[in-house]
Amino acid sequence: MNQARIAVPNPDELDAAAQLLLAGHAIGMPTETVYGLAADATQPRAVQRVYAHKRRPAENPLIVHVAEGMFQGHESSSAALAGRGIVSIGDEQLASRVDALIDRFWPGPLTLVLPRGTRLGPELSAGRATVAVRAPAHPVAAALIARADRPLVAPSANRSGHISPTTAEAVVEELGDCIPLVLDGGPCTLGLESTVIEVQASSWRLLRPGMVGPAELSKQLGPQDETKNTNASGDGLVSPGLLSAHYAPRTPLVLLEHRIPLARELVFGAVLPADGSVGLLLPQPVAPEELSAIEDVLRSHRCSLRCVRHLSKTGSAKDAAARLFACLRELDALSADVLLAVLWPVEEGVGVAINDRIRRAAYATLGRS
Ligand code: AMP
Ligand code: MG
Repeated sequence: MNQARIAVPNPDELDAAAQLLLAGHAIGMPTETVYGLAADATQPRAVQRVYAHKRRPAENPLIVHVAEGMFQGHESSSAALAGRGIVSIGDEQLASRVDALIDRFWPGPLTLVLPRGTRLGPELSAGRATVAVRAPAHPVAAALIARADRPLVAPSANRSGHISPTTAEAVVEELGDCIPLVLDGGPCTLGLESTVIEVQASSWRLLRPGMVGPAELSKQLGPQDETKNTNASGDGLVSPGLLSAHYAPRTPLVLLEHRIPLARELVFGAVLPADGSVGLLLPQPVAPEELSAIEDVLRSHRCSLRCVRHLSKTGSAKDAAARLFACLRELDALSADVLLAVLWPVEEGVGVAINDRIRRAAYATLGRS
């Protein structure tokens, strides 16, 4: 099969990319969160193509991406989106909440689940009456959406269940055999998928943690409706993104809590493969004595430490988020027997989103065994 072409997003390439989208093709598009597999949200066959390329289960709905021209320049953002048939908001109270959220957070990594508009078919939201919408804060994504003048679905450009890509090369690794083009916008600056929330007239709930934290949202929307914040509720699957198994490397990944020194935790807890090899994901560099203690434990299992990756040298959660998926990809490429991963130490703000993704990677492993 042909490999997708990686293109510098100059005006000619952007025009060519927009033409491919209008012709119903799916292509790789950079955003500030992760690279998306973009297609015209108004063409059911293009949307189906995205599901097929990703091998994404039909019950997992897609996010629709819009550009500033689609929500600005009207009397209100919600009216602009409704006018284009993207959402359908009858309730005034809901409209004013949505306007305030868009004012504050768009373009940016916040996805809003709202009543679906008439121009979008049920296939992109798995038959739901709702649709997830966001405006990416990346100049290439914004320019592409504006040139195509269509809302675009753009789920992460990986095969379903794999690690999301944060570089153009990683998109080619994942989907290079089935798409014609990837626009290269450089490495993603945020590196984790958007925060997803469902907003109603008088309640809201977090469906997927991301860079916009619940504390910031509560300031604007009031406290979250905790009673509904579960996938086990009677109304079926609230949001497939809440499912635990997701974002998994192919190599089994075991979580380390790091409440006691890592070397002792390895002795007491993790299952080390005898005569095997290990990749280690650490939030930050550890003291040299701690690393040699870890290596001693591994040696006693005749295990070798193939590679150590640090999420951040400085302890910055933002840097860690930006590097997480690239680190997981590099560790996965070792073909080690097991990956050991230590959670981000501060479980607040961005740390919540980082640990959410690490836990999902580990859960998938346990589910496979
Ligand atoms: P992805 O496109 O892979 O970043 O994932 C999209 C995320 O948004 C998933 O977690 C979906 O479950 C969630 N999502 C998209 N549309 C809806 C919707 N209509 N209702 C609830 N969750 C949604
Ligand atoms: Mg995804």
